[in-house]
Amino acid sequence: MSKTTRMIELRHPDHFRPGSKETLASRGHLCNYCSGNGFFWGSDQYGRRTKCECPLCKGSGEVDAFVTIEWKPSKREGSDGA
Ligand SMILES: [Zn+2]
Repeated sequence: MSKTTRMIELRHPDHFRPGSKETLASRGHLCNYCSGNGFFWGSDQYGRRTKCECPLCKGSGEVDAFVTIEWKPSKREGSDGA
């Protein structure tokens, strides 16, 4: 079975201040909770079949991932008194 894999290649910026952050967005991941349907079948108060919106993807069938990366100076052995 085929599978899509998304990867992040980390490369520090040429100039950064300690603690600076960057955010990457990876959009359009299939919602595993509803299998991408965006809804589940349910019933209303009269017993009729009705679509119930997926609580995780809010009906879109997809979810987005936001990854925040914070850059800091590396700690070398002995630099922190250890
Ligand atoms: Zn969903």
